[in-house]
Formats: sequence, C-alpha cells, structure tokens
Amino acid sequence: MSDHAMLEVRDLYKYFPIRQSMLDILLRRPANNVKAVDGVSFDLERGEVLAIVGESGCGKTTIARTLIGLEEQTDGEILFHDELVGAHERRARAGLVPLEAGTVGSSEQKVFPRMSMKRLRQQAQMIFQDPYESLNPRATILEIVAEPLVVHGLARGRDERLERVKTALEEAGLRPAEDYFLRYPHELSGGQRQRVVIASAMVLQPELLIADEPVSMLDVSIRAEILNLLRDLRQRRGVSIVFITHDLSTVAYFADRIAVMYLGRMVETGPAREVLANPQHPYTKALISVIPVPNPRLRRERVILQGETPNPIDLPSGCRFHPRCPVAVEACKVTDPANVLVGENHHAACLLLNVAASPNIASGEAAST
Ligand code: SF4
Repeated sequence: MSDHAMLEVRDLYKYFPIRQSMLDILLRRPANNVKAVDGVSFDLERGEVLAIVGESGCGKTTIARTLIGLEEQTDGEILFHDELVGAHERRARAGLVPLEAGTVGSSEQKVFPRMSMKRLRQQAQMIFQDPYESLNPRATILEIVAEPLVVHGLARGRDERLERVKTALEEAGLRPAEDYFLRYPHELSGGQRQRVVIASAMVLQPELLIADEPVSMLDVSIRAEILNLLRDLRQRRGVSIVFITHDLSTVAYFADRIAVMYLGRMVETGPAREVLANPQHPYTKALISVIPVPNPRLRRERVILQGETPNPIDLPSGCRFHPRCPVAVEACKVTDPANVLVGENHHAACLLLNVAASPNIASGEAAST
C-alpha cells in the first residue's frame, strides 16, 4: 500500500448468505454464501483513476457499493484518509460477524477512528449505471441537484444554493444552467440525464467519485462526451475516480491503473498502459483480444473463452479460472495462485508466472505430486 493513499482497501470480503429452507435447517445442511468479493486489496491516490474491469457477476459492483456504505463488508477494512468506513468493526464488537468468523480476511491490530456515514457521503459520491432510474421523476433538475446541499446543510441560504447548483450544472456541461432548473428528467436526453447525475454528485465537491458503468446505458455517440466530462472533472477538481466497467476499451481512454477481476478476486493489477500493452494473466489476455481494432490490417488473434463463469457459491478448486483457462495445466486444479510481481507496480495471479521458480508446473507434473 502507498503511504499517500487516500483510499485503502485491505482484504475486503463480501459474502451474501443464501437463505436456508426449513428442510435445510432440519437436516442441518451447512449454510452457503455467494462469495461476491473474496479477499480484495487495493489503494487509490488523490486525483487517480482506477478502473475495475471484469464480466458481470465478478464482484466489481459489490466493491463499489461497499466502498460507499450501501453494503456492509463481511470482513476487511476500508480506510478513507486513515478513517474506517463501513460497519464491520461495529458488527465484530457485537459478535455479529457472520459466516466462518475468523476464517476470512485479516484484521490489523492498529485502531483507526471511524468516519461517520454522513461525512463519507460528503466526500465520496456514486454515479450509477442507469440515469433513468437514479433521478426522481417528480423533482425538477434544480431540486435534484440542490438536494444533497439541503441534506448536508452545506449552503447558507437560497442564493448560495442556487449558485452552487448553477456551477455544478455548468461544470457538467449543461449550459446555461438556468435553462435546466425547472425541467424534469423525462424532458432530457439520456446523456443530459447522466450529466445531471454527475452534477448532483459534484455539487458536494467530493474527493472520490465511484462511477459504476456510467456509460453502458448510453448511446455510443454520447459515451465519449461523458468520459470526456469525467476526465475534465478529474483534471480540474483533482477528484479521484473508481471506474467500474466490463468494457476494457473505455478504460484505455483515461484510467491510470487497471484492476482485472474474476469471480471475486483481482487477478491482475497494474498501470493501465502496461496492462493493456503487456497483459500477463490469461483472463486479461482474453479480454484484450476481443477489443475491436480500428485498423483492419492490424488483426489480433481472438481468445474466446469456453463455458460459463462458475457458480460463485461453489467456487472451483485451485485457480478459480481453471475450468475456462485456455492454457491451464494440471497444477491449476489444486493450487490457488498467489499474486506475483511481473513488472513495475504490475501484479498477476497465475501459476505459469511462477514457472521460473517451479518449472514442473508448466509441464503439468505438479498435479501428480
Ligand atoms: Fe490459467 Fe492456471 Fe494461470 Fe489459472 S493458474 S490463469 S488456470 S494457467
């Protein structure tokens, strides 16, 4: 972890317990969990953009919701400016940590002060995927963007409130802002609605934006405008962004670092250019191979992964990617790969990257030992 990190996530776990039927309870069948996030650590510095990439169901949205306090972590620590976020510590003190308590994650002994949820919401804001769902259809744009200021008591009087709403709308590209004050969300296009969502997030002048697939519901023609807007906000305001997406082609545009997720784990992390130009994990290579290349003469060999993503309730043994991995060897069925350093600030979790240390892994002999 960096000494200067604004946000630190350490061994984050989020399991969703599966409700048991009466028959399961009577037969004393063990309770199961959906292991949505299964031991994730990362940090984020001020003004940095981290893209978390992966297929649907890999746990990236659960991380976003946990960071903002919409979900309670099962275990692990989230530190925002060295203050604890989330309810885990309270649950632990009350003896309420669910699941296999003591078997997941690790808790450091150092005691950090706790950040209140209200202060977290001032400093970290979320942009949801669907601008149609995230705006109140009965409120005007003025009321929507002013609401966070009212809730947090951050504007002294009507004039200051109006001025801050105007600034936020104009920074989000809705100019002149007064033309939008009395309009309703249904009167705006999809791109304009997403700009309103961004304005209502930025009106509190947060330090962190968590953008969960912010362009996936928009027309292709508008996506670049919204990505440009986020990039401008980052440059002008120094806001840090956690950018959640399934589309690696968009992250190339403005992310500083990439974290690739598969079934609740980060399997490759590193500087964006380095990961895109020199991917090390077979899953990252497959994702990059299907990004369209605008030049027809530059053809890439596509890697099409076979089979479905395994059930997160019953994860495969060994490397959880092995049932779909095109280069798996026998050892992959039994050994869970650790993250190894493969370049400057570039890590990946694959047994084949340890091959120099254990040459019998690549030959497939490890499984028989
Ligand atoms: Fe593929 Fe094995 Fe590497 Fe996992 S450890 S990514 S299964 S080669």
